Parts: sequence; structure tokens; C-alpha cells
Amino acid sequence: MGRKFFVGGNWKCNGTTDEVKKIISTLNAAEVPSQDVVEVVVSPPYVFLPLTQASLRPDFHVAAQNCWVKKGGAYTGEVSAEMLVNLGVPWVIIGHSERRQLLGESNEFVGEKVAYALSQGLKVIACVGETLEQRESGSTMEVVAAQTKAIADRVSDWTNIVIAYEPVWAIGTGKVATPAQAQEVHHELRKWLHANTSPAVAESTRIIYGGSVNGANCKELGGQPDVDGFLVGGASLKPEFIDIIKAAE
Ligand code: PGA
Repeated sequence: MGRKFFVGGNWKCNGTTDEVKKIISTLNAAEVPSQDVVEVVVSPPYVFLPLTQASLRPDFHVAAQNCWVKKGGAYTGEVSAEMLVNLGVPWVIIGHSERRQLLGESNEFVGEKVAYALSQGLKVIACVGETLEQRESGSTMEVVAAQTKAIADRVSDWTNIVIAYEPVWAIGTGKVATPAQAQEVHHELRKWLHANTSPAVAESTRIIYGGSVNGANCKELGGQPDVDGFLVGGASLKPEFIDIIKAAE
């Protein structure tokens, strides 16, 4: 069973209305492989979700960058999964390393959020990845497995989950993982899924790479057997994102 290539654009906390309109018009004008070949999902800040949804080409979809861990209510400043569903937002990114690191989101909290978002009908891009210190101490797989386990403990149906392996040391640093480094972790993660979920889940779940992906390095990274696409930060704000989508071909 083939895994459809997936390219996500994580705009993070960037953009003005005019800038967002400009990015969207660039995307809308681009010639890219069809939806049968690549699934493209862009993730604007919450406030630009309606604008993006209203003007983005129909073959691309949107993701929120986060959502609340349970049903909405008295949680000032949060946005609930129900609200995203109400807006018709199909995807959400959960557990991005910036939230884990800057906002103290634990593996368990991320796992709970993934389970709740799925229960509400959202599709989830679940992020995992090690810090430089963890890589250098040889605990990369242990860290990534623990992050994935916290999700696997709470989820049985993996149909609507994409795993984004994003080594923290490669995010926004220009220091991309080598294709071999990415392949190694993706392969180990797939083995982990095989042993701890099911062979079918391991075979069908897309594992995408994130961390300084750009127009120049995407082709080789995307050519690795266990790399099923990308989650792109900085380069997703630029026309270069189109070249990254084309790496699916
Ligand atoms: P980057 O970010 O491409 O700017 O390194 C990736 C991400 O954080 O998803």
C-alpha cells in the first residue's frame, strides 16, 4: 500500500493580512502535482484561518497550529478542537517542539490533545523529535519512542494521524538532518509502530520530516524510503515552498 506524499507548511507566528494574501496567491498560481500524488496542508496562525480557507485553492487544505486538550469552556486564550471543526478546519498540528519547549507541553499532555482532537474529527500532524543534547547522548530513539508511546497509549485508530519527525536541533537553524539521519529515525519509528501498534499501522502511517527543509535539500530527503513528506517552517513562507511540493514527483 503506497503512502501518499504529504507536504505541510507551518507558518508559525508570522504574517500580516497582506502577507498572508500574497502567500496564498503565490500558492494558488502554482503548478504542482495532483492531489493523487501529494497532499498539501498549510498552517496559518489561528486568526488567518478563515481568510486562508476562503481564498486557498481547493486542492490544498489548512491546519491549525494547536488546539485545546479537552472540550472548550473557561480556558482563556485557548481555541478548542470543536471550534476548529465548526470552522471546517480539517487538520491540526499538535506537539510542535516550540510548544513542548517554550510552553512546557509534556508527552502526556500532547498525547491527550492528539486523542481529543481525533475524537472530535480533526486530522492530526503529531510532532516528535529530540534535542541536540539528547542526540549527542545517544538517546534519540528513546526520546522519540516515548513521545510516540504517549500518543499510542491513547489512540487506537491511526488513520488520521501523520507523524512529523522534527529534530529540535534542525528546526529554524539551517542545520538540516542528512538524508541518512532522517531515514534512520523514520525507519526506527516505523519499526516501533510495527511492534507497538500493528504492522498495518506501521505500513500506512505517514512519517514526514521537518527541520530546515528547503528547495535544495528536499529532493534527496524525500527520496528516502521511509520519508513520506515534510513539515516545512521558514521555507513555507516563500515561493520555494512550491519546489518542495514538487519533490513529491
Ligand atoms: P523550519 O521549521 O523548516 O523553519 O526549520 C520546521 C518546523 O518547525 O515545522
